[in-house]
Amino acid sequence: MNHAISHDVTVLRDVTVLGSTGSIGQNTLDVIARHPDRFVVHALSAHSNMQKLAEQAAQHQAACVVVPDVLAAQNFDSAWALRNTSAKKPEVRVGAQALVDTAAESRGQIVMAAIVGAAGLPAALAAAQAGKRVLLANKEALVAAGSFFMQAVIDNQAELLPIDSEHNAIFQCLPRFDRQTQVNPSSQHNKGVTRVILTASGGPFRQHAPALLEHVTPDQACAHPNWRMGRKISVDSATMLNKGLEIIEAHWLFAMPAEQIDVVIHPQSIVHSMVEYSDGSVLAQMGNPDMRTPIAYGLGFPDRINAGVSPLNLAAVGKLEFEAVDFDRYPCLQLAYQALKSGQTACVVLNAANEIAVQAFLMHQLGYLDISKVVAHSLDWQAGQGWSIPSSIDDVLMIDQAVRTFAQETCLKYLKS
Ligand code: NAD
Ligand code: MG
Repeated sequence: MNHAISHDVTVLRDVTVLGSTGSIGQNTLDVIARHPDRFVVHALSAHSNMQKLAEQAAQHQAACVVVPDVLAAQNFDSAWALRNTSAKKPEVRVGAQALVDTAAESRGQIVMAAIVGAAGLPAALAAAQAGKRVLLANKEALVAAGSFFMQAVIDNQAELLPIDSEHNAIFQCLPRFDRQTQVNPSSQHNKGVTRVILTASGGPFRQHAPALLEHVTPDQACAHPNWRMGRKISVDSATMLNKGLEIIEAHWLFAMPAEQIDVVIHPQSIVHSMVEYSDGSVLAQMGNPDMRTPIAYGLGFPDRINAGVSPLNLAAVGKLEFEAVDFDRYPCLQLAYQALKSGQTACVVLNAANEIAVQAFLMHQLGYLDISKVVAHSLDWQAGQGWSIPSSIDDVLMIDQAVRTFAQETCLKYLKS
């Protein structure tokens, strides 16, 4: 008798995509569409662009969609009617609670958390609490509430798979010990891991003369050399606050202290990150810069599935360069290290102040160089507040809200005339 374990790929898994109309959401649906034998779309969610949501729901035959309010629901209905499709109309759910409930409901074994910003925290957390396979793109959720999020993963035996390309790379390079608890929240030290090294492209202004940075526009900041992403993360990549969020994300995901998380500039974005071991080995994960690779890894884990990504041609790439980070050019990165060392409250502040500042910059209400100043002011302000460490998600959300108000006022002070 043959006792070989067979992996039955004919078992369909239901997938919920939170933030389906965004860059990660669309890439997720692209990978899913390549594997009708593995995945069924259960639910989709979007905050705006109801036309796109209707198009996605029709194409993927989603059972339900979640939209923010009644007006959006009406817009979805109109967009659906205009499509004149024979597809069955999905159930339309409305509001923040519906988003949380959909993330947690028993259908939808896999939840892609791809909402941008701390706004995605309640739904991502609900998926973890419901013991789902959580594909986490929404790094802000982990930055704002890392301890609660990781505890929810452990308590509810959720599977947490990092989608951020750097963390996905590190995950792939870490020792593989236990397939049930996918990301081991305990220390990596006894596995011989001495350091994780995040790569960073340096963004579009890596070689700009500092004097020119004062007048850069949102479109220039969003013109990332290697990745096509949503506008918020694109600005974060330019300031490298994104790498700062990723240091904090790595801290929580891999239980690494700040001192063992390094950043190196790698303009080609081919090496997605590295893990250093005590024997001097450094393992790197490489590939073309295409988010469908980490998304496919998360969807298919432990199997490797086709992502539609073109093969890496190293000879065509020619050279891979690495350089040290110039912290004067990227003050936001320093602020993130500072926040991580000072604790969870400061991390909430870093993220919330940055979300407000980036939004103001994107709306031409704040200069590019003022983003780091708003974040720095907010951190200084919080240090004088005497707040205790958040002991619940409600505490986190309260701090988040207070910081947003402070940061809005600070932005107004910088408001360009
Ligand atoms: P995006 O702006 O392209 O898409 C965001 C999605 O979230 C959209 O579907 C939007 O409708 C929805 N959304 C926005 N505000 C919302 C709100 N308040 N409530 C509910 N839904 C809301 O962003 P993106 O580039 O796809 O990034 C999504 C997340 O993934 C971010 O946390 C980002 O940091 C992370 N990430 C993105 C990339 C990338 O390549 N784009 C790479 C790594 C990590
Ligand atoms: Mg990243």
